[in-house]
Amino acid sequence: MRFTVWGSRGSHPTVLTPAAIQSKIATVVQRIRPIDLVSQDARERFLASLPEWLFGSTSGNTACVQLELNDSNQLVFDAGSGIIGLGQSQKMRDPAPMEYHLFFTHFHYDHIQGLPFFVPAYNPQVEMHFYSPLEDLHETLSRQMIHPYFPVTMDGTMGSKKFFHKLTQEGVELYGARVIWRELNHPGRAFGYRVDYGGRSFGYITDVELLESDFEQNRANARVFSDLDVLILDAQYTLDEAIEKINWGHSSFSLAVDFAKAWNTRRLFLFHHEPQYNDRKLEQNLQAARRYAVGIKGGALDVYLAREGTTIDV
Ligand SMILES: [Zn+2]
Ligand SMILES: [Zn+2]
Repeated sequence: MRFTVWGSRGSHPTVLTPAAIQSKIATVVQRIRPIDLVSQDARERFLASLPEWLFGSTSGNTACVQLELNDSNQLVFDAGSGIIGLGQSQKMRDPAPMEYHLFFTHFHYDHIQGLPFFVPAYNPQVEMHFYSPLEDLHETLSRQMIHPYFPVTMDGTMGSKKFFHKLTQEGVELYGARVIWRELNHPGRAFGYRVDYGGRSFGYITDVELLESDFEQNRANARVFSDLDVLILDAQYTLDEAIEKINWGHSSFSLAVDFAKAWNTRRLFLFHHEPQYNDRKLEQNLQAARRYAVGIKGGALDVYLAREGTTIDV
């Protein structure tokens, strides 16, 4: 299995403003020494030496993660604005996929707003399968594509064959992978997912304001949360901000580390980045999360930022 982050920003898409781009360029220029310019190799070495927060950006698009089980089969989690890029990337695949399986954590805008622009969904030969533990999935999704909010409808112009699946407690088996879910503490309800395939496990758990009950070592929790090779987890805030924003439905990066350690996660990817945090701030949060992960008891845990455009083996 491998996953690609197409969007990891929370709440709303975040553009790099002209001022932010200018500031990055100015900072890079200040770091250049004459020796960095003497050859093509030297220039490439210099660029490779720049930190990720400076040479690039963490993510502008909202939630969408593609999970490729192997070279031919894939699952998709959430349809934030990141899914637009995923859709465009699909024409590069040979053969072009004719089947998509799209799981929704919930239906806040940042998790559905890219769907009307997902190009494969307009191909009449494509099958689109949508999944949620909630009723009314068809109605919920099609209501964002009606006049006066959008010029074409889901049941009309969006011409793919569509299938709406209400997930039962057992979850679903697809291409030999098992997908199960657990309800999360989030305003209006949200659901986290776990995928087991080929002896590896992947968790996609957002949006969630973690509670003490999420740490309880009971079977229902363990079934979804325990021993994940990769966990993509809501870590929108710093601890200070999380205390100010109780009941907003998101977690701090330190609580995310506590949770990952409590459930014996191998690799944690901080997700649902706060739109007010710039790349430098997100990097500072990452470094603080890493220090915290070393400082508390439990097994070894590697912590990363979920960065848009990266593909990682599970
Ligand atoms: Zn969200
Ligand atoms: Zn939400």
